[in-house]
Amino acid sequence: MSNDAMKINRRGLMLVLSSPSGAGKSTIAREILATDPDIQLSVSATTRQKRPGEVAGTDYHFVDKTEFNLMVNKGELLEHAKVFDNYYGTPKKPVMDALEAGKDVMFDIDWQGTQQLSDHAEKDLVRIFILPPSVQELERRLHSRAQDSAEVVAKRMAKASDEMSHYPEYDWVIVNYSLPESITQVRSILTSERLKRTRQVGLGDFVKRLRHEV
Ligand code: 5GP
Repeated sequence: MSNDAMKINRRGLMLVLSSPSGAGKSTIAREILATDPDIQLSVSATTRQKRPGEVAGTDYHFVDKTEFNLMVNKGELLEHAKVFDNYYGTPKKPVMDALEAGKDVMFDIDWQGTQQLSDHAEKDLVRIFILPPSVQELERRLHSRAQDSAEVVAKRMAKASDEMSHYPEYDWVIVNYSLPESITQVRSILTSERLKRTRQVGLGDFVKRLRHEV
């Protein structure tokens, strides 16, 4: 029997990464996505302005308020929320297609979006919260990013405390002391969650075949 035939069908999972801005979440997400072909990013729609270096369709679908409202009204978003005066939402179809194909999907969304997904799809969710090692480090990272104005940075610092209060709503919490260590930790979680019996939907058939061959 070929290795392919031995592969066990698996239900895709939804990996949520949340953190206050500047805790290192995007870097961790990028590294996982670049090295793991079985997980893809859910590209959100947002009404916020594109930052330098961001690519439409890759980082976000940049839309205006009218387009965003249309997506909401047509039921095209899995969840949506207002974050820092802008609207953000997760397009439903790409997520459903990926999960059906047995692929995992990563979400870079805030606690409001995570709560909404938890209401609809708790079984498929794996929720990771990333904390900064200190407030000083958070502030330093927000300033060094330098893509946002001082006013925006100040707003994000104020919001960080609020965002951090939601850590108990997550399954796993990582303090980002070192990026390589945090990336390894996210990978470990992903590996373990994929091995959960309930996610390995092809296990029954697989074991049946094994037993038949004994
Ligand atoms: P940024 O503007 O820095 O890219 O993102 C700001 C915040 O919005 C981040 O905490 C990010 O996780 C969150 N966010 C991005 N996309 C979505 C989304 O589709 N839904 C929700 N609820 N939050 C999002």
